[in-house]
Amino acid sequence: MANSFDVIVIGSGFGGAITACRLAERGMRVLVLERGRRWETQDYPRKPSDAWIFNPDEPEKQNGWIDMRFYDDMIVVQGAGVGGGSLIYANIHVEPKEELFHQGWPSEITYGELKPYYEKVGKMMNIQTIPETQATQRYHVMKEGANKLGYGSRFRPLHLAVTFDPVWNYGLKDPFNERHSKKWINDQGQEQGTCIHCGNCDIGCKVKAKNTLDLNYIPWAERHRAEVRPLHLVNYIKPEGNGYGVYFDRLDRGERIPGHENARMVILGAGSLGSTELLLRCRDQYKTLPHISPFLGHNWSSNGDFLTPAFHVGRQISPSQGPTISSAIDFLDGSVDHQQFFIEDGGFPDLLGNYLEAKLNTGTKRRKYRFLLGELGKVIRGRDPLSCVMPWFSQGIDAANGRLYLGRPWYAPWRKKKLKLDWDIKRSEGVINAIVNMHKRLADATGGKSWVPPSWTILKNLITPHPLGGCNMGTTSTNGVVNHQGAVFGYPNLYVADGAIIPEAVGLNPSKTIAALAERIAHLIPS
Ligand SMILES: Cc1cc2nc3c(=O)[nH]c(=O)nc-3n(C[C@H](O)[C@H](O)[C@H](O)COP(=O)(O)OP(=O)(O)OC[C@H]3O[C@@H](n4cnc5c(N)ncnc54)[C@H](O)[C@@H]3O)c2cc1C
Ligand code: SF4
Repeated sequence: MANSFDVIVIGSGFGGAITACRLAERGMRVLVLERGRRWETQDYPRKPSDAWIFNPDEPEKQNGWIDMRFYDDMIVVQGAGVGGGSLIYANIHVEPKEELFHQGWPSEITYGELKPYYEKVGKMMNIQTIPETQATQRYHVMKEGANKLGYGSRFRPLHLAVTFDPVWNYGLKDPFNERHSKKWINDQGQEQGTCIHCGNCDIGCKVKAKNTLDLNYIPWAERHRAEVRPLHLVNYIKPEGNGYGVYFDRLDRGERIPGHENARMVILGAGSLGSTELLLRCRDQYKTLPHISPFLGHNWSSNGDFLTPAFHVGRQISPSQGPTISSAIDFLDGSVDHQQFFIEDGGFPDLLGNYLEAKLNTGTKRRKYRFLLGELGKVIRGRDPLSCVMPWFSQGIDAANGRLYLGRPWYAPWRKKKLKLDWDIKRSEGVINAIVNMHKRLADATGGKSWVPPSWTILKNLITPHPLGGCNMGTTSTNGVVNHQGAVFGYPNLYVADGAIIPEAVGLNPSKTIAALAERIAHLIPS
């Protein structure tokens, strides 16, 4: 039986979009199955009643673009939609140091080996730093804190996948207004805009200044005849003929419509949780891939993420203005508290302001209310009730000792098994405490008062937007699920190419490393 496609890619985040693009460029017939929607700027959620949440229990009814998983002691946040996490990420593209790859990684993966792939990603994502004249208040506070504590040489602006207009500035009249964004056409033929510092990076950039995957790798894949099917949730993969059958549900207006396609090759790009869950279900529930490594699910990491808000009373920090993150102070050399971590300025969108703006554009048509809402919006934008809050953010090298598995509560043995996480904070407590101490010192040095949330001080709970591992790279199936080329041990032409293959915490934002590995995997796949 002839296969309908050469390659089926599952998921369209960094791993999925990049492998799909590069293989389609080589003339392969590529199908991308993505569980989330294809988003247009006018549909981005803004009001509470909009489609924010992707609910894995009833995705046919709730398929918004944020998928939050609540485990014991850990909340994981991830994207869902054509473009995956890039749709809601903070645009940081940063490379780890050479030393990261010395331990825990297959010997073939070194910084030198990844360098050409990092460069390819940087070019495609059009990365740049924020112009000094547009530096945010948070950027200045970071720099001041680093200098005052004697760490000035560790401070640096970060590379962002954002396009800036050099003439934009905070002195413009109504600077965040969309009319200040300048249109341009990117190398993939897509219309984009320039950044207006509206602070909405994590809830979608309406002026397309963020260089997201749906504006570069994905249209380039489609230009090379890849087919992208949104709202296709893959359930399992099964060896069939000379390749694999991929079984999915099409999510259609509240219904799940089953279907399947087949291909010689399958690439999982469903993310750390998504790819791990799929392979767990194939091995343990459907038993279609029974020989997947027993290492599956092991050595999962939350990448040491932690956020400490601080109140700098009397100072305009304006965390809702400017790109969500734009600078870092690097402690990855382990010289402080014998821990490795990376401090960043965090930001958050002005949800109330955005809500009012959305109401103004789509809601009531009555003049009186439009006027009132408009005035209220201006006051909120101008006065910014949280303007003195500095969200000190960080990542660090944690113990990467979580375990993902399928389970159900003991009191409900009839329920369908769900993805669960076994996470023990003990071996990672040191790095989080070192981060908290540094956040406190930086806040004190810049006139702020930090507030370490009781979710950490009492409960030792964490939240991560950077889940890593689950289908880790290794040298054999005793210490990994895939090899250094993303090939699944024991199953020819089955690959994993996303955050699930990262074997250790990277200690800083991981998408550039995930993207570089995906570029390498695609490059090494034989035609
Ligand atoms: C709010 C936020 C901010 C972030 N900011 C940054 C940042 O600034 N810099 C950085 O480096 N990282 C950032 N990250 C993390 C970054 O988004 C992820 O590391 C990255 O997207 C992971 O890439 P991936 O390819 O592994 O998976 P993803 O990008 O998560 O893509 C996986 C895709 O697979 C789809 N999928 C899952 N299961 C299935 C299935 N069964 N069938 C079909 N499709 C499926 C999902 O819907 C998703 O689109 C941020 C994350 C969040 C949530
Ligand atoms: S600050 Fe606003 S305009 Fe700039 S990249 Fe973020 S969302 Fe887009």
